[in-house]
Amino acid sequence: MQIIRSVEQMQKTAEALRLEGKILALVPTMGFLHEGHLELMRVGKSHADQLMISIFVNPTQFSPTEDFDQYPRDTEGDIEKARQVGVDIVFMPEADEMYTPGAQTSVLVHRVTQHLCGRSRPTFFEGVTTVVCKLFHIMKPHIAVFGQKDYQQLTVVSRMVMDLNMDIRIIGVPTVRDPDGLAMSSRNNYLSPEERKSALSLKKSLDLADEMFNAGERDPAIIKKAVEAFIENHPHARIDYVSLCDPVTLEDLETLENENLLALAVWIGKTRLIDNRLIRDKKE
Ligand code: AMP
Repeated sequence: MQIIRSVEQMQKTAEALRLEGKILALVPTMGFLHEGHLELMRVGKSHADQLMISIFVNPTQFSPTEDFDQYPRDTEGDIEKARQVGVDIVFMPEADEMYTPGAQTSVLVHRVTQHLCGRSRPTFFEGVTTVVCKLFHIMKPHIAVFGQKDYQQLTVVSRMVMDLNMDIRIIGVPTVRDPDGLAMSSRNNYLSPEERKSALSLKKSLDLADEMFNAGERDPAIIKKAVEAFIENHPHARIDYVSLCDPVTLEDLETLENENLLALAVWIGKTRLIDNRLIRDKKE
């Protein structure tokens, strides 16, 4: 497994592999790898000759009040996990290698970034699309793999790839959960044992909404209210948003369709967690 820290070396390596006719898959991550990340890597490997990952805690997607400094990091552990999954190349640049002084270019996807997480994190997606675009130019993948846990991110990146004619296939992978249902996240590391119990309210509220929908409820306001009440009943839980929205445009729905996205962001103490589910008619 090769570990590359320089942009120039990464570009040369990717170019050489492409000239050999190799198919390259990329899994971008911020490190502190867990089973969710590893699943993305397995999927990437099954579609490609060379599996590349990036480990980069991207400063431009954090606002000044967010957890950039505290974000968990474990370079040694990550390298070992990557090796075990069969990663061929790990790209792990420093921030000043990625962002040259005087940079003044960004990538902005306009509409799907306005909803859900875009409301409470107004600069987040511009940071994400800009760094993902840079990683695509540096690592030159044919395929890039993203988690459905970050549903909006997957939507935004897919939109960018389509709109800018990037010749890259985006693959989405279902959310990997702990045995008790909690969606795996590097940020789960922040939770105390008591908070972790309350964090289960996210997944359980998705189950509740699913049950209501399948029992025939079609009023989004009623489902949303039940979800909010359920979550708020847990200690340490404070809702950022609960949205029943169109799975493509991410716009809030007035009436429910055959397929709907329920997306949540909830503060558990000082930790902001997200989760989502496609709520659809099981009879169809
Ligand atoms: P992050 O390191 O949190 O930026 O995540 C890197 C990639 O892993 C993103 O595409 C995430 O959507 C994906 N990911 C994170 N957690 C999970 C999970 N529990 N299941 C599936 N994919 C995940």
